[in-house]
Amino acid sequence: MELFSVLVVDDEEDFVETLVNRLKKRTIDAVGVSSGERALELMGKREFDVVILDIKMPGGMDGIEALREMKKVQPLAEVVLLTGHASVETSIEGMKIGAFDYVLKPIKLEELFPKLAQAFEKKDAHDQKIRSAKIKESLRYW
Ligand SMILES: [Mg+2]
Repeated sequence: MELFSVLVVDDEEDFVETLVNRLKKRTIDAVGVSSGERALELMGKREFDVVILDIKMPGGMDGIEALREMKKVQPLAEVVLLTGHASVETSIEGMKIGAFDYVLKPIKLEELFPKLAQAFEKKDAHDQKIRSAKIKESLRYW
């Protein structure tokens, strides 16, 4: 059984494929797409615990715009941004609108993986709180 679910969003398709495979080997339910539009389409169909999102993507939707929309579709999914040195400020902006953290490119797995674990822990704690509130509400007796 997979430990948690991750959506990888990056226009560099080789990178996406490699990362998804690495995550799958570590028992993570990982799916990859190459644009913000595709990510949002998928997030409309199924839930993810954590999203790994590239800030710089060519075409219609950049990472920040995608992040804004993701937070509308799945507010509880935690988002880790991937950023180049030139766009660190954009990532800080991203954290102000709800991203969990960012990791600098080129990505080192020893930096990314601990942040993924932290992002999942935060998501899981939030889920548990909501579940517990629902249980209390459901078993309310007076
Ligand atoms: Mg890119």
